[in-house]
Amino acid sequence: MASNVYRNGTGSHKGATRPLAASNSSNVKSTSFKSRIPPSNHSPGSAPLRRSNSAGGSDGVPGRVRVAVRLRPRNAEESVADADFADCVELQPELKRLKLRKNNWDSETYEFDEVLTEFASQKRVYEVVAKPVVESVLDGYNGTVMAYGQTGTGKTFTLGRLGEEDTSARGIMVRSMEEILANVSPETDSVSVSYLQLYMESIQDLLDPANDNISIVEDPKTGDVSLPGATHVEVRDERDFMELLRTGEAHRIAANTKLNTESSRSHAILMVHVKRSVLGAEDVIPSETDKSSHFAKPPKPLVRKSKLVLVDLAGSERVHKSGSEGHMLEEAKSINLSLSALGKCINALAENSAHVPVRDSKLTRLLRDSFGGTARTSLIVTIGPSPRHRGETTSTILFGQRAMKVENMLRIKEEFDYKSLSRKLEIHLDKLIAENERQQKVFDDEVERINLEALNRVSEVERNFAGALEKERLKCQMEYMESVKKLEEKMIENQQKHGCDGFMQDKCNGEGPGSSIVEDVAEVKKLLEKEIHMRKEAQEEVNKLKSQLGQCPDSGEGGGSEILKLQKALADEVLQKKKLEEEMIILRSQMLQLTFEADQMRRCLGRNGSANAYGGLDSPMSQVRGSLNGHKTPVAALFEQVGLQKILALLESEDANVRIHAVKVVANLAAEEANQERIVEAGGLTSLLVLLRSYEDENIRRVVAGAIANLAMNETNQELIMIQGGINLLSVTASRAEDPQTLRMVAGAIANLCGNDKLQTKLRSEGGIKALLGMARCGQPDVLSQVARGIANFAKCESRASTNGIKSGRSVLIDDGALPWIVQNANNDSSPIRRHIELALCHLAQHEVNAKDMISGGALWELVRISRDCSREDIRSLARRTLNLSPIFRAEMRRLRIEV
Ligand code: ADP
Ligand code: MG
Repeated sequence: MASNVYRNGTGSHKGATRPLAASNSSNVKSTSFKSRIPPSNHSPGSAPLRRSNSAGGSDGVPGRVRVAVRLRPRNAEESVADADFADCVELQPELKRLKLRKNNWDSETYEFDEVLTEFASQKRVYEVVAKPVVESVLDGYNGTVMAYGQTGTGKTFTLGRLGEEDTSARGIMVRSMEEILANVSPETDSVSVSYLQLYMESIQDLLDPANDNISIVEDPKTGDVSLPGATHVEVRDERDFMELLRTGEAHRIAANTKLNTESSRSHAILMVHVKRSVLGAEDVIPSETDKSSHFAKPPKPLVRKSKLVLVDLAGSERVHKSGSEGHMLEEAKSINLSLSALGKCINALAENSAHVPVRDSKLTRLLRDSFGGTARTSLIVTIGPSPRHRGETTSTILFGQRAMKVENMLRIKEEFDYKSLSRKLEIHLDKLIAENERQQKVFDDEVERINLEALNRVSEVERNFAGALEKERLKCQMEYMESVKKLEEKMIENQQKHGCDGFMQDKCNGEGPGSSIVEDVAEVKKLLEKEIHMRKEAQEEVNKLKSQLGQCPDSGEGGGSEILKLQKALADEVLQKKKLEEEMIILRSQMLQLTFEADQMRRCLGRNGSANAYGGLDSPMSQVRGSLNGHKTPVAALFEQVGLQKILALLESEDANVRIHAVKVVANLAAEEANQERIVEAGGLTSLLVLLRSYEDENIRRVVAGAIANLAMNETNQELIMIQGGINLLSVTASRAEDPQTLRMVAGAIANLCGNDKLQTKLRSEGGIKALLGMARCGQPDVLSQVARGIANFAKCESRASTNGIKSGRSVLIDDGALPWIVQNANNDSSPIRRHIELALCHLAQHEVNAKDMISGGALWELVRISRDCSREDIRSLARRTLNLSPIFRAEMRRLRIEV
């Protein structure tokens, strides 16, 4: 049956019409109207980057124009008028087929992408026809949904119904807009709408009726079409949009009244412009907290501009029935120009014709991207059921069939959003500047805090140090005072006991009371006698044992052991004897020493008139020997009785022992001022100097130096010592001596000489100062004390000479290199040393000529210390006065911010 034959149209009498099954069966068999575009990952506000051609991307995706057919139900008039006739079409929606009845026995079958019966709901129509296009628009593609069909078949019903009373009646325009608004982000995206009417090749703005001749502008590079003159209204919600549609509709009616036309003659075009910001996956905007990304690559905002064009075309019957409504032919031509041009373009595209007459009409220019362009396009062809309009229905179906062959190449329009990029960069930069400033502030604050902390610490340490120093100073002072007190007490005690004084006084004091020495001597003698007695007894015992041994020569084994025992006892006794003999020797030597010292003691006591009852001796020799033998021989009496000459003669004795004791005697005699003159007169000084020169024996030299030191207490003697070459001799002795006692004596002698104003030059020229300083090497406090005393004496005389104008120029002490030693010992632990040096420093400081050397040598600090800390008020004020009087010191103290 011919009516049952499926007409695919290929090579059939409908030559121009090639049903889709033949050319693209896979498309035809597709059960879905949806696009084959790869699904996008789009989500509002953060659509991922998908580069398009315009942003240097890939080629487009093929996308054929999709065509659905919708049948309008019979209206009231048709129900009546065509009551006896069957519909001119029969739909097979499940097969997406439409049978067009040519007559009662013949029909043609066509396949569409979707076949929508008279019962199809508006929602379903939207979902199969428009939704895929809307989704593409949200993805950045251009999209077109267009209704084509005879007037009264439901184009406006399908596209433009507002459904204000019944929301299920809402058409594609409202639903599309709802979907777009639901999917865009108000922060990053924007949606704007233009609503236009194309009538007689002129474009009117339905949102601004005064604007009735809008021109089309084409971008010569991209071919993009735009209507810059049209009103673009930003749409934020559905209410805005409904209001807009209502306004547009009202203006359309008004315009049509004015133009004496009706809406079916004009094309209504709703343009929805969607602008969306997208970011590449790698271009993530740094978050507030992500500090590491401050210097990361700034984000590259991209913007996707897409356009949804919804076209409610003029009735298709106009193409064929021009002028039928009473218009002039030219006018009719003009009315239909766009629609017929669209038909021609679609034909050309369907047939892959080389030339597509796009520029023939405004409609085709406006829809340039929709057919054969980059947009996703859906066409809904509306038909009525009435067999009376079979011709119109047929041509509509054929239009749809041709449109199905039009292949578009879908592309995203995407470009860099330089404005937004610049804005974002500026914000980013401002953030960085603020962050930088904040960090700089934090850094500065931190530096300030550390500085302050350091200062606090320094001052705290300084405070602690000063406190500790003060404490230490007080402690030292206390200790010093304690020891001075003790010494004074001891001295008073000693003086009370012995009344001793003079250079050798300490020696007398150091040996303890004379009575105890006498007792010691008696005790030792007793011990010795006991020992002698014991020895005798032991000897007797030995003899006794020996005789016993002789009496029993054959005592056998028992006797043998007895002998052995006795022999052992004997050996023990011998050993004991030997030990006793040794002990005796030791005791004897001790006694000798004690005897001599006791003699000295007695002399001291005798001098004070406490004891003078000593037996005389025949000769000086016997006196000395007597001493050695432990006889109590007072030296003073000896001096009286024997005579000085004889004692001095003993100085040259052959016997070394005699000699040394003679020197000791002379030295002791010289300790007394009363004897000094006589000793010197008798040539004692000369003899002593000869001894000092000629004897290598350190013991003799020590005692000789002591004697000379005693004699040097006298000013006349000092000069005599100098005249006889004593200074040089003492200097040489000083350099050779090792025994601290010798050094102490020599230093004492030189120190005495230093106190003589007349000897200054000679003392220096004969190496006295250097010798004095040289002796400091031994480090023994007694020696150092004498060295310090000598220096203080010298400084005092020198100062006096300078003051009197006898001396000029720098101190010879400084010339001879004494300053470093002075400074070094200025704060010596031993108070006598310290005291002498403090005085020496004050003397030196009194002369400006020494000031510079003193400053550079560090003496100023010591003077300052003395002026502050010296326990003796007189020295303290002397130092202070001296410092304040010297302009050089004053200037230096000012410079160092020291005040005294
Ligand atoms: P067109 O815009 O194509 O000239 P309209 O949309 O104005 O046609 O429709 C003409 C009439 O038909 C209107 O009264 C409309 O309500 C009605 N109509 C159209 N399509 C349908 C449909 N699918 N279901 C019910 N009524 C429809
Ligand atoms: Mg209409």
